[in-house]
Amino acid sequence: MDCPGCGVEMVDLASDDQTLRTCGECGGLWMDVADLNRLLLHHGLPGLESLGGKVLPDADCGTCSECQVDLVRVEGGEKNHPLGYDTCESCGGLFLEEEFADVKDIKEAQKRVVAFFTRFSGKTAKKKAATG
Ligand SMILES: [Zn+2]
Ligand SMILES: [Zn+2]
Repeated sequence: MDCPGCGVEMVDLASDDQTLRTCGECGGLWMDVADLNRLLLHHGLPGLESLGGKVLPDADCGTCSECQVDLVRVEGGEKNHPLGYDTCESCGGLFLEEEFADVKDIKEAQKRVVAFFTRFSGKTAKKKAATG
């Protein structure tokens, strides 16, 4: 799998049940939508479909190197801090342009993915006394 952003071969980060791919060049991350949904549900977030966000039809994104189709840009998050990801409508893959270049293991990558989609959904942590 080549990076949709820069076309270099991505690095696999694998766990027992999922594989994420990161790009050492741009720090992007590619993952399957099924893997993402599992990860989100596991962390108490709704699936990707319920997270909102709007499609930006004119955005210039990369191309899915698996399907050779153009990616679609989806934007969400807060007005002041918009967040976006690119997705392939053919295979359902997602590309995040966050900085994943320094991620060494899949646990760390998953943590950042969850943090990203928590912000994306607008569910910022409410002020709450620390428990535990
Ligand atoms: Zn890249
Ligand atoms: Zn694809």
